[in-house]
Amino acid sequence: MTTVNIRNLCVYCGSSPGSRPDYVEAARALGNELVRRDIGLVYGGAQVGVMGAVADAVLEAGGRAVGIIPRSLVSKEIAHDRLTELVVTQSMHERKTIMAHRADGFIALPGGMGTLEELFEMWTWAQLGYHDKPIGGLNVAGYYDRLVDFVATTVAEGFVRPDHRDIWMVESDPSALVERMIAYEPKTVSKW
Ligand code: AMP
Repeated sequence: MTTVNIRNLCVYCGSSPGSRPDYVEAARALGNELVRRDIGLVYGGAQVGVMGAVADAVLEAGGRAVGIIPRSLVSKEIAHDRLTELVVTQSMHERKTIMAHRADGFIALPGGMGTLEELFEMWTWAQLGYHDKPIGGLNVAGYYDRLVDFVATTVAEGFVRPDHRDIWMVESDPSALVERMIAYEPKTVSKW
């Protein structure tokens, strides 16, 4: 079995903490898992919400956390001031491009519109063959159950190929998820 060499993982997640403690707890567990495996964190650079929780866990465990944040959001998202590196960009597009380039894979933790948009952008780019990096989802407290169901509908209705659905690897345990991402073998299935 081939394995992907993952040195840095990009984590997309909510700038809010969510309404259950499970979300922040899972973010901390994922942060610890990254450090245990000597994987650096690339994320959106905020110190609030689920975003702040994953970065704090990484830093407290002695790991590397790199934040990428657009200048316009530095004060709104309360940029983290203790990161290994904070990159301030001119635009949201530049932020997302740098996050994508600096990571060897992507994980979506629970989050809102920003998280979903970032997940779907990487998923779309993978389906188009723009990258072949693994994409995971940490399904905390069943948060992504309905999204998994809806994606099954997109396949059943003939809009998405099963191979493209399967690009997104969903697990509820951080260690199992990272393990699966390391073992990921990209398939080149054309969209057309
Ligand atoms: P949210 O999941 O909505 O709390 O947002 C999580 C992160 O996604 C935050 O760092 C936001 O700045 C970012 N974000 C929000 N909207 C967008 C967007 N349209 N494109 C890319 N990132 C976004």
